Amino acid sequence: MTEHTRVLIIGSGPAGLTAAIYAARAQLSPIVIEGEPSSNSDQPGGQLMLTTDVENYPGFPESVTGPELMMKMREQAARFGADLRVDKVHKLDASSRPFRAWLTGDAEASITADAVILATGARSLMMNVPGEERFLSHGLSTCATCDGFFFRGHDIAVVGGGDSALEEALFLTRFATSVSVLHRRDALRASKIMQERAFSNEKIHFVWNTQVLEVLGDDKVTGLKVRDTLTNEDRVLAVTGVFVAIGHVPNTTLVTGQVDLHANGYVRTGLGSYTNIEGLFAAGDVQDDVYRQAVTSAGSGCVAAIDAERWLETRGI
Ligand code: NDP
Repeated sequence: MTEHTRVLIIGSGPAGLTAAIYAARAQLSPIVIEGEPSSNSDQPGGQLMLTTDVENYPGFPESVTGPELMMKMREQAARFGADLRVDKVHKLDASSRPFRAWLTGDAEASITADAVILATGARSLMMNVPGEERFLSHGLSTCATCDGFFFRGHDIAVVGGGDSALEEALFLTRFATSVSVLHRRDALRASKIMQERAFSNEKIHFVWNTQVLEVLGDDKVTGLKVRDTLTNEDRVLAVTGVFVAIGHVPNTTLVTGQVDLHANGYVRTGLGSYTNIEGLFAAGDVQDDVYRQAVTSAGSGCVAAIDAERWLETRGI
């Protein structure tokens, strides 16, 4: 079965859902393919589903949880008539218009669209060291909110020096006996306010100039083999849980080889949300390696919906 829509939105983080709100209010009846709940990289609601308190989204002076914020955005998009579907686009043909997307949920089903807004977001970057893949979800995690509870009474390492690492570390102090933050330099990238909170938490210790070489263990994690980047000395740090928070990579599989990407893999957008393919717009973390905030992502979703609406109108589609 093939159905047609004027605007197909792929992704349901702040960018996708804001695009959905604007496109729906512009009477474009967008279809939103939200992602799959089982997936680490493209779950409905995007990365905010994996965060705890969001303290910097305007309009929530008392903070709001990531999942609650996304649920509100989803409700708002649905209220204006966006057609939200829990499914995943596994292939997108952007070589000619209308574009065509194939869904995982039904091998026979495809959707053609006059315009596509790509809002597939980004996913956690991994260390790519021995043991990491083997222990993923078995002592090694990229999401403290999801897995922190399982580490009650453990000594945990968090790898990274940005806001994500400190947010994970602070959250994990609710469960862990100790949290060691391993950073490859001696200065954090994280914001000052997060640094202050982490420095003043007595469960958190910083291990500077440290690179992880291997995740050690048998059936459970028992430690990390680490190298001091100043002295080149290797040692074993005894921990029973590891959280990796070293940044993100954009989810561009659907458009790789079709759309222009920056050297670092992010989708190249020109003015607003325009990509090099006419009718294909990109919004949110898939095209933003600089700001990467929920609010900027939502803003770029708004831009993409307005761009798509005007583009359709000028072409009389
Ligand atoms: P960042 O890119 O900001 O930080 C990544 C950190 O991981 C850096 O300290 C980096 O080290 C380190 N790193 C990168 N690659 C490796 C590697 N291979 N091995 C070891 N360490 C590595 O990513 P974040 O996910 O922390 O943050 C992304 C954006 O989201 C930021 O803009 C941040 O402000 C925002 N954010 C905001 C939050 C909030 O406001 N509460 C919460 C979480 C994120 P180095 O510094 O040496 O490059």
